[in-house]
Amino acid sequence: MKKVVKFGGSSLASAEQFKKVGEIIRRDTERRYVVPSAPGKRDSKDTKVTDMLYACYDKAAAGEDFKADLKAIKARYQEIISGLKLELSLDEEFKTIEKNFKAGAGEDYAASRGEYLNGIIMANYLGFEFIDAAAVIVFEENGEFAAEKTNGILSQRLGKVEKAVIPGFYGAYEDGKIKTFSRGGSDITGSIVARAVKADVYENWTDVSGLLVVDPRIIENSPVIETITYRELRELSYMGFTVFHEDAIFPVRREGIPINIRNTNAPADEGTWIVESTCQKSKYVITGIAGKKGFCSVNIEKDKMNSEIGFGRKVLQAFEDYGISFEHVPSGIDTMTVFVHQDEFMDKEQKVAAAIHRLADPDTIEIESDLALIAVVGRGMKSTRGTAGRIFSSLAHRNVNVRMIDQGSSELNIIIGVSNSDFENAIRAIYEIFVEVQL
Ligand code: ASP
Repeated sequence: MKKVVKFGGSSLASAEQFKKVGEIIRRDTERRYVVPSAPGKRDSKDTKVTDMLYACYDKAAAGEDFKADLKAIKARYQEIISGLKLELSLDEEFKTIEKNFKAGAGEDYAASRGEYLNGIIMANYLGFEFIDAAAVIVFEENGEFAAEKTNGILSQRLGKVEKAVIPGFYGAYEDGKIKTFSRGGSDITGSIVARAVKADVYENWTDVSGLLVVDPRIIENSPVIETITYRELRELSYMGFTVFHEDAIFPVRREGIPINIRNTNAPADEGTWIVESTCQKSKYVITGIAGKKGFCSVNIEKDKMNSEIGFGRKVLQAFEDYGISFEHVPSGIDTMTVFVHQDEFMDKEQKVAAAIHRLADPDTIEIESDLALIAVVGRGMKSTRGTAGRIFSSLAHRNVNVRMIDQGSSELNIIIGVSNSDFENAIRAIYEIFVEVQL
């Protein structure tokens, strides 16, 4: 068995946390490939090293004195090194970083040093080989991640090493210039490594015991999801689930490698399993609830719209022409509504409305703002009668006015539109009826 283990920033924020990580890895010899993040926050008032690096580089790029900032970053690492009693000096590394900052190496280079240095410490601490991600994770000239090229290089490289540390979050263009993924991107690196070594499992260690059925800021003590499919997670991530980077699913999904979300501070907990498919029934009819505020709806009416071929295409063309992606398009016989992100749409609304008039000649266009979308996701919904009925009666009892309903054709999710002000209330209502009542 081969396991790839990724540890998030809070799992590596201090020497104490490093020791827990060391124990987890040493306890299981199958944990052979380790992907660390940069040191995160030690407490709620602390700053992540990645953020310190961005701020430090901003000063360097503006020609300001950044020595004190870099010194504070070095101190974060030094505290870990001393706490672990390692014979390791990062003096040379910091000299190089200072020089490169002065030479304008770029903010991606700056941010990547968080993972790079933590990787060096981790490799030293574990006695594993250190492999710089810049040598094995490749980006195309246009900034896109080169999945196949990377997979070739990485699988060959890791095929020759029994145990290694590969820092998360970054790679490089072919000319060697560093490029990072988006924030939280170490999850993606872990997934890429898992694919390359054809791991049996990709363990993603964080500071919660798995994915929660609902956002804990809305419902305290939400239960943990035991098993969730990749597709369910996609739906939920898109709607704001944040524990796991949404792009990190793709590499492992290709190989059907399960992901296990675990808690560094409670390693005995089973965590959440993210799998391709399962016969495990989820405890409740629904697997999870997620949602986002800040949508607009553009409601377009035209008599006999249903018989006009190409009407929908013309309407959507107007959005495309102004670079706006649409989220949902529920439609009726003479109406069609397009949901878009409010912040993307706001500045362009009149232009888009004019384009719809020009292209599709509708009778009326009505724009509504401050809407929220809630996704109720669950593979169990397909085979359970009355799920939608229960959701809507529960919302009615809570006096939530439902503005839109869209059930995906996979019957994996139901999307509900409500006004922003009803958002939390609506989520509580759905949670209660499925999780607390547990009918
Ligand atoms: N350190 C990076 C961030 O803070 C990447 C990561 O932690 O995954 O976003």
